Amino acid sequence: MSFSSLGLSEQLVRATSDQGYETPSPIQQQAIPAVLSGKDVMAAAQTGTGKTAGFTLPLLQRLAAKPRTGKGPRALILAPTRELAAQVHDSVNLYSRYVPTKSAVVFGGVKINPQMMKLRKGLDVLVATPGRLLDLYQQNAVRFDEIEILVLDEADRMLDMGFIRDIRKILAMLPAKRQNLLFSATFSNEIRTLAQGLLDNPVQVEVAARNTTAEKVKQSVYPVDQSQKTALLSRLVRDNAWEQVLVFTRTKHGANRLTQKLEKDGITAAAIHGNKSQGARTRALANFKAGEVRVLVATDIAARGLDIKQLPQVVNFELPNVPEDYVHRIGRTGRAGESGHALSLVSADEGKQLAGIEKLIKKQLPRTEIEGFEPKNNLPLKPKAKADPSKARGRKPQGANKAKSFGPKPAGSNPGRGRGGAGQGQGRGRPSQQRRSA
Ligand code: AMP
Repeated sequence: MSFSSLGLSEQLVRATSDQGYETPSPIQQQAIPAVLSGKDVMAAAQTGTGKTAGFTLPLLQRLAAKPRTGKGPRALILAPTRELAAQVHDSVNLYSRYVPTKSAVVFGGVKINPQMMKLRKGLDVLVATPGRLLDLYQQNAVRFDEIEILVLDEADRMLDMGFIRDIRKILAMLPAKRQNLLFSATFSNEIRTLAQGLLDNPVQVEVAARNTTAEKVKQSVYPVDQSQKTALLSRLVRDNAWEQVLVFTRTKHGANRLTQKLEKDGITAAAIHGNKSQGARTRALANFKAGEVRVLVATDIAARGLDIKQLPQVVNFELPNVPEDYVHRIGRTGRAGESGHALSLVSADEGKQLAGIEKLIKKQLPRTEIEGFEPKNNLPLKPKAKADPSKARGRKPQGANKAKSFGPKPAGSNPGRGRGGAGQGQGRGRPSQQRRSA
């Protein structure tokens, strides 16, 4: 299976080889021919599956087939966050190297004037967040009458973020005859309703079963008291010599607090969330990618669309309130053929969230207690399970599942293991210690 066998032109195939892609990913194998055929597409795909190239490559090919006659745009890609919009635009740039396609990205939080200037020059592909696009429209800086293709990327997230009204407004202004592509990690009823009104007899593309988590990602739960979470995280980072770890907190405030504590503990960390300026976020991400910052602490919204390649582990410092966010979070690891580890530090008061996640992903996550961090209050072993006498009898207290040989003993007792040991000790000896407790 090659990119050219999917019907892509030589110019686009060359752009993929420049990126070092050898074979199309499963979503690309399905989506590329469907988009090329001109049909509407509804795709269930998480970040990390190669979905961006899945819609961008065929979209570019369709646009390249006939030249632009007006100022455009001819393809509109809507994305929920500025980070995601910027990344999609980066992909458009990369893949359009050898085709005469012009593109631009617009999002809020930065000055509108330079964006207006770019639009005035004429373009084929516009990547936008919904709010800023409407602002630009209201100021007559963009027209939609030449739109041939619409892409809603991470549609579930756009709805979660309250963009449904903006999206509906935008849809109402687009030419009726157009190709529609809808990409979403999850398919809630709300998404299905949106899809029904938007898509005409769509080709359905699905790479992983609905609402299941990426197979490549190993998932674990470490029960721990809330007050011990920071110390445990420091310990994990040091003992496993993690060089690049993305940590999720529920709140912006929590992200700042954790970052400060880690820094105090001698672990380089940066926070990325909605209260930070675009410049601060871009800087934090760049430092993280460059390996100058070991821990990037993010809130769910800020993390959406972050494209960080081959992230070996993701830590949930707190579980998200919305179970779907868990699926999004762990989609950050195990990307593009790599295996990953998503681990959650879960305190007793998060039993409800854990139950919600396990219900969504339809499996119970193995719990492993870490020596020295055993919680005072136990997590429910099998949340909401019906009483089962046979299981109850065999049910051990959580202390029975200690990861006895977890790492060298207390944090700091092993000064020789610090930075520079990239990859060293990742998942070291862990599988045997991760025993299911129920
Ligand atoms: P996405 O799901 O679009 O965010 O893509 C995830 C990552 O996979 C990006 O860093 C892409 O550069 C990379 N990628 C996309 N397609 C391929 C491919 N066919 N082979 C290898 N890597 C890919």
